[in-house]
Amino acid sequence: MLGKNMLSQFTLLCGLSLISCEDVADKYKQDIFKPEKEEEKGYVADYDDGENIYINVKIAIDKKGWDSQSETFFKGKLKEQWEQINTRFNSCGQKGNEKLARNYIFQPDLEDIIVYEGCSYWGNNGADTKVVAAMNKNIFKLTVIYDFFYEGAENGEYGGGCGDYDGIGTILVINASDGAKDKYNDHFDQYTYRAITHELGHFRGVIDLYAEVINGANNQVNGQSFMPTSCLMNDMTYTPDSESKWSDYAVKIINKAGVAKVPGMINNYMYEDFADELIVEAKSGDQPVDAVIKMYPQSGSYGNGILSTPKREFTLSSGSKTLDARSVFFNNPDYKWDRTGIFLVEATYNGVKKYEWLTDYMLHDSGMNNQKKYTLSIVF
Ligand SMILES: [Zn+2]
Repeated sequence: MLGKNMLSQFTLLCGLSLISCEDVADKYKQDIFKPEKEEEKGYVADYDDGENIYINVKIAIDKKGWDSQSETFFKGKLKEQWEQINTRFNSCGQKGNEKLARNYIFQPDLEDIIVYEGCSYWGNNGADTKVVAAMNKNIFKLTVIYDFFYEGAENGEYGGGCGDYDGIGTILVINASDGAKDKYNDHFDQYTYRAITHELGHFRGVIDLYAEVINGANNQVNGQSFMPTSCLMNDMTYTPDSESKWSDYAVKIINKAGVAKVPGMINNYMYEDFADELIVEAKSGDQPVDAVIKMYPQSGSYGNGILSTPKREFTLSSGSKTLDARSVFFNNPDYKWDRTGIFLVEATYNGVKKYEWLTDYMLHDSGMNNQKKYTLSIVF
């Protein structure tokens, strides 16, 4: 996370539905509008016609990379790659209980590729700033910036991932590793189109679920590991299409987003749709018990451990306690990215300890299911 841009690592591995399919169709009817031709430029603006969602993609390439191959080469490869991306994005959204409500068409603009000079990084005078400045923001809400020629961290090149530039999605494709320096890097291999599809998940409002993977070796409380729900945003970032899917959780967010693009979607959506109340309760058999609860936080954003000092500690009363769910996870409503992604919840009663995992996406998912009270039950 850097300044206004919410970043995710490009190079890293990156519920239960109560809504029937018919309900889904009804739910999104209100968002449907007909496409309008942008006569002057010959572009069709992004649209949702009830069946397809069409999103223009501005392509940008670093000048050193551009000069290393022919224009025909890039156009041919990009056309092929975006067909792969569209296939993956759509097919992975039809495999769970929740289905993508639309067919997505991400349309790369191959007729007007932006070639930018200088190093690729985020922020002032970075690749994202240059490209956003050069593109028509009335047409394009998304740019995918390819750096085919990595010049080294010492020259200011770094990054990769998906940013949010005042509501414009900025995906930077770069292999910032020493072995990739000062030569043409192939971003048309079998992995990069998968990575870009993952980044499009961010563009549609989904968090990095892999950021909440806990490695038991770094769990200072009880040594248990935790793996979030399987998803293109988690363990399936790089797996073949046939073995991959969007999680039900991700599909709900993507369906909510539709064709919209507004600033801060990832964190604002989560905050808006979060459960309102977190109810922690404990029982021994049928009897409510006043267990002592300790909530141990993740070892920082993207940290794969659990800290030994609890962030919250309280004793249940009549076997229960109700908390403001947002204030448990979000540290500051003005900076919604600043939150604890996952807690290990410990309940102690009569000298016996029980543990449960509690994540931000569980409460977000509950809220999206219109279950605004999320109950964490601990049984002794
Ligand atoms: Zn990511």
